[in-house]
Amino acid sequence: MIIVLLGPPGAGKGTQGERLAARLDVPKIATGDVLRAAVRDSTPLGLEAKAAMDRGDLVPDAVIMGIMKEALASPTAARGAILDGVVRTTPQADGLGETLAALGRKLDAVLLFDIDEDELVRRLSGRTTCDVCQRPFFGRAPGEKCNIDGHDPQGTLVRRRDDEPESIRKRMQVYRDQTSPVVNWYESRGANLVHVDALGALDEVEARVHTALGLA
Ligand code: AMP
Repeated sequence: MIIVLLGPPGAGKGTQGERLAARLDVPKIATGDVLRAAVRDSTPLGLEAKAAMDRGDLVPDAVIMGIMKEALASPTAARGAILDGVVRTTPQADGLGETLAALGRKLDAVLLFDIDEDELVRRLSGRTTCDVCQRPFFGRAPGEKCNIDGHDPQGTLVRRRDDEPESIRKRMQVYRDQTSPVVNWYESRGANLVHVDALGALDEVEARVHTALGLA
């Protein structure tokens, strides 16, 4: 199955995407994770993306399309993939459609995570992220160890630069201006777009995701 997760920053796409990927036994493709790893390793991709990411702006579509194409063409994605944080613009939605058509695949569903903006700001300003596995944590301080088994080296929790208040506001604005039109784009093309109420405990939201996809 190829599933796009759509929704504002902090809606839970990463966490639910990871659970869904495990349930379906397919990889999760998260452009934000790929970009953060590139920034950390100072690769040419990272150097190109860093300034836009720190500001809370989007990275150019062409850069994202390159990451997306490579990930979808990989043998690990042969049975499907969960796309987290991509697509974020209508040109990316178009590009994904073309990439899938070229691979003889199709998009099975778009999950739209609905959530109130005040809750998002509250979540993001209390979030830390492991600098190795990129898992988000809430209520744990920067500098603590990640403590997730099986990771070597063991990561340290950091506050993402784009989780500072100024960047959070910018990312919300970017979502409203550039990403929310993607919802109409898919609806007007008859895509299987399903809404998921993203407010609640992780297990509750996961159950809603399964119901929305007919996996329950
Ligand atoms: P995320 O981890 O999904 O919140 O992404 C973090 C940052 O990476 C975003 O604020 C953007 O700067 C960049 N980014 C990730 N995915 C995309 C995308 N599909 N299009 C443009 N920029 C992206």
